[in-house]
Amino acid sequence: MLSASPVLERLKEEGYKLTTPRRRIAEVLESRDTGHFRIEELYDLVNQDGFLVGLATIYRTVRLLEDLSLLTKIDLGDGQDRYELMISPHHHHHLLCNQCKKVMEVQGDFLDELEERISAMYSFDIEGHDVIFYGTCSSCKNRMENNE
Ligand SMILES: [Zn+2]
Ligand SMILES: [Zn+2]
Ligand SMILES: [Zn+2]
Repeated sequence: MLSASPVLERLKEEGYKLTTPRRRIAEVLESRDTGHFRIEELYDLVNQDGFLVGLATIYRTVRLLEDLSLLTKIDLGDGQDRYELMISPHHHHHLLCNQCKKVMEVQGDFLDELEERISAMYSFDIEGHDVIFYGTCSSCKNRMENNE
């Protein structure tokens, strides 16, 4: 089987070589639990099984994938640059834990009704919205309760 990796397919289409670091980065990005990450986190994930991909290569590759619209930078307002894969872009919102800085996705959009109300109230055609929920995640809550 040839690579079923959308990232590698796209790189190949654009004429980029599928080098070992690029293959490894694509594999990590496409794994289910990578999600929303900071560059340093990607670096740790890429190198966790003893692979050696330097930080500069990670930065360059992230920039390249951003240029190809495979990755998008997300700003959750805490001064950290995070990225997420845009292979099948679906509209979603983010939960950011103030304790451990973990990012989660909210599946499903509950804001359609709010948009309609605002639109009617201000006679404003809404084309999109951006929402981040801040708080404490369940594992941090557990940890804090156990420390009491
Ligand atoms: Zn947390
Ligand atoms: Zn996201
Ligand atoms: Zn939404």
